[in-house]
Amino acid sequence: MSKTEIRNEGMRIGGEIVFTDAVIEVKYPYTDEVIGTVPAGTAEHAARAFEIAANYKSKLSRYERSQILQRAGELIGERREYLAKWLVLELGICHQHAIYETKRAQDVYLFAAAQALQDDGQIFSCDLTHNGKERKIYTKREPVRAISAITPFNHPLNMVSHKIAPSIATNNCMVCKPTELTPLTAIALADILYDAGLPPEMFQIVTGLPQDIGEEMMMNDNIDIITFTGGVPVGKLIASKAGYKRQALELGGNDPLIVCNDLTDADLEKAATIAVAGATGNSGQRCTAIKRILVQESVADRFVPLVLEKAKAIKFGDPQDPETQLGCVIHAQAAELFENRVYQAEKEGAKILYHPGRQGALLPPIVVDHVPHGSELVMEETFGPIIPIVRVPDNDDAVMEISNSTDFGLSSGVCTNDLNRAISYINGLDVGTCNIWEQPGYRIETSPFGGIKDSGNAVKEGVTEAMKFFTNVKTYSLPWP
Ligand code: NAD
Repeated sequence: MSKTEIRNEGMRIGGEIVFTDAVIEVKYPYTDEVIGTVPAGTAEHAARAFEIAANYKSKLSRYERSQILQRAGELIGERREYLAKWLVLELGICHQHAIYETKRAQDVYLFAAAQALQDDGQIFSCDLTHNGKERKIYTKREPVRAISAITPFNHPLNMVSHKIAPSIATNNCMVCKPTELTPLTAIALADILYDAGLPPEMFQIVTGLPQDIGEEMMMNDNIDIITFTGGVPVGKLIASKAGYKRQALELGGNDPLIVCNDLTDADLEKAATIAVAGATGNSGQRCTAIKRILVQESVADRFVPLVLEKAKAIKFGDPQDPETQLGCVIHAQAAELFENRVYQAEKEGAKILYHPGRQGALLPPIVVDHVPHGSELVMEETFGPIIPIVRVPDNDDAVMEISNSTDFGLSSGVCTNDLNRAISYINGLDVGTCNIWEQPGYRIETSPFGGIKDSGNAVKEGVTEAMKFFTNVKTYSLPWP
């Protein structure tokens, strides 16, 4: 990568590009080179953006909003290679995973464009009751003053899209503070939206270090709603500080893939494919990545070699090489932390079956078997491409107890062909989502998504739910039947 490609970006505030003297460097995890900078913005920048947002009253019709959203999706397609290139550079994931993310983001705009055209009101006849009248009660949904969006590093395009697309569809104005680790894609996205016709007041980007700008993003008086995706500590900080403001907190996970003992060899092969893809996709940096493979004892000896074979086949390395199937995690310190958890699990009795060596942030798909279910490796969120196998009893109740024993409750996957067992897992797992024969991360971008326990406050995302969350219902009635 040549140095001329360094991007020195500004914030996007009220249609202006705003720079500051102090900047935050953005680094390519694979080489640790600086690939760009963004302003070290302050509370004053955020306050200005929120004032602009709260004072702007969008008059865009449903048709106009839908057109903007549709055009934004098309532009993401047209700029796919540019976006993928910068996703690779700022996040370190491989090009293949970056392309995948651009397509997910396109889907978000596709759904939001369609949903913007749907009427979201309800009608109630009033002559239904003992004391009824010849009237009708109607509802309509109205935007709020300003929405604060705080986003994590791991899906720089898709996560921001899940905030802004429903915001546009509902005529809201949003100020987004992307993470300081991967802020460049969010800025590219803002420009795409402006090119698609979005008034700049409806989406502004501020950047800065959490200690300088974080509190303003939670507490500014113009904020009615905070939509946060990130880790548990910051989520709980927001919950403690934001008080009366409406909050969506989409937090961490350590999702299980449960492999049941009713499977044939062909089924186990299928389960192993799901397991390895789910643990290593996006370098294991998905909130819904498979963080624990809970395999029932009586099939474990047949299942583990299949996982090992698939993990060994993954081509990991240079994220920019289009052949690479697994790139880096966000930085070397994160990689080291996760690797150390593997060694700690080994001390507790786990067996490392495959670990071809770490180079800085390049963490390979490490396969670990016999991981004790209480080990930190699988109790905490290990946000990398580790493939930890926990052998669990053949009794489903015991499996559910183990699965439910962590603080998290985001999603889950279960591989069984027995419908009764599938239903008992759907009912028994303390999670926001349960996918039978799929990765925990499987969704479409408009289906409800979000976790419980420490994984979130059960407010769902996904285009449809987010549009409801971003609006106030106004009820009115008219004296006609
Ligand atoms: P993080 O919590 O460290 O940071 C998230 C955002 O919060 C960043 O923008 C960061 O700058 C900001 N932030 C940090 N301190 C702040 C403060 N004091 N005040 C205001 N803002 C502050 O999370 P991360 O490491 O960027 O992202 C990874 C986490 O996100 C993982 O735990 C992952 O599971 C989670 N995640 C959850 C979902 C979901 O939908 N549930 C989706 C993606 C990621």
